[in-house]
Amino acid sequence: MASHRRLIHSAIFSLGWFALIANAPAQTAPPGPASNALATRLVADPRFRGAVAAFDRDFDRFVAELIKLTEIPAPPFGEGPRALAYMGMLQEAGLENVEMDAEGNVLGLWRGKTGGAVPLLAVAAHLDTVFPEGTDVTVKRRGTRLIAPGIGDDTRGLAFLLALIRAMRSAKVETAGDILFIGNVGEEGPGDLRGVRYLFTKGPWKDKIKRFISVDGSNLDLVTNSGLGSLRYKVTFRGPGGHSWSAFGNVSPAFAMGEAIARLGQLSVPKKPKVSYNVGLVSGGTSVNSIPFETAMEIDLRAVDPAALKAIDVKFKTIVGEAVKLENATRSTENGKITAEIKLIGERPSGTTAPDSPVLRQIAATMGVFDKVPVWETKSTDANIPISLGIPAFAIARNSANKGDRSHSLDEWVDIEKTQAVKDFELAAALILSVAELP
Ligand SMILES: [Zn+2]
Repeated sequence: MASHRRLIHSAIFSLGWFALIANAPAQTAPPGPASNALATRLVADPRFRGAVAAFDRDFDRFVAELIKLTEIPAPPFGEGPRALAYMGMLQEAGLENVEMDAEGNVLGLWRGKTGGAVPLLAVAAHLDTVFPEGTDVTVKRRGTRLIAPGIGDDTRGLAFLLALIRAMRSAKVETAGDILFIGNVGEEGPGDLRGVRYLFTKGPWKDKIKRFISVDGSNLDLVTNSGLGSLRYKVTFRGPGGHSWSAFGNVSPAFAMGEAIARLGQLSVPKKPKVSYNVGLVSGGTSVNSIPFETAMEIDLRAVDPAALKAIDVKFKTIVGEAVKLENATRSTENGKITAEIKLIGERPSGTTAPDSPVLRQIAATMGVFDKVPVWETKSTDANIPISLGIPAFAIARNSANKGDRSHSLDEWVDIEKTQAVKDFELAAALILSVAELP
């Protein structure tokens, strides 16, 4: 199989590829997923080759748009200005029905030739970055490296989608199915996937999107088909408070919270599939010589397996209850008892799109044409939402390995060396367009 793939691969990139494929389809179609024929045909199609050539010609504009978008700050819940600019760019790229939805996502439609007979594919990149208002987002250039907060994650994804749409138009690419292109809000931490959650549970496209690809990652060998689920809580412990000397012996929210943290730290959890817990923030109290009347902690629980996430969630809540009970039994409740309020501040559902599902079989087949084998990954991405709803969804990267790094840091960078960028475009475009052909 590998040698067949290599044959196709080298054939495609040599001048004689067309004749070779046309003359020997049976020999060049490797065994395995039936959809290999589709991938081979797609990548060899003159219009697909034309789209790759169009990206090559359009490259300076791709870079200019990447810089322009990066320099429009887009902190969580502050994506508005970037969303407006992106909406204009989607329009300019030639999509139909370009609009901003009530959550702040911007989207537009690429019409396929079957008039909706093929399931609707949505392809998204996220508008938001992790960086707060006021962060210097000026792009610096060092050789082929562009450096700025958010330039990779996920601004390169946004710029890639624009370049893809333009390349498809320029080369008159025809897809079987319609494609909804999206710049969505709220992927990062506090956003809690609000953009894509709205899209799949409330907005006008709810129930219409049948397949979903998020372009968000920095290694095209990896395909994120499992959504890492998480639950995030703020737990506030309250009590009567009092003077550290004269009220000594009264219950304290600090002891209750300390007990809860210590017990949480003792929990043993499965390593595979992995489960994790974290106490990320602790706060409370008013002064060194006061028993606090309030303390709080923020907790992050994660698991690949939905049942495991539920199990650690139950254990965590039990621990909080026990710690409160213990504190109320240990010290005086004469002036009041300890209570705990558990508030959900984040929820990302988990789940997996099976590697043997038609969509991922197609992805594996398309990667095969490029001599690659997908490495299935588990991460928290916008795909978590559709995956948890049973809609085939996954995330692919915006560039190949080592062409971008340090995401979520101030020295985040992407490499825009053109030869590799064109190759990365070709692979990502082939992955997306092959899914748009699937009945
Ligand atoms: Zn991202």
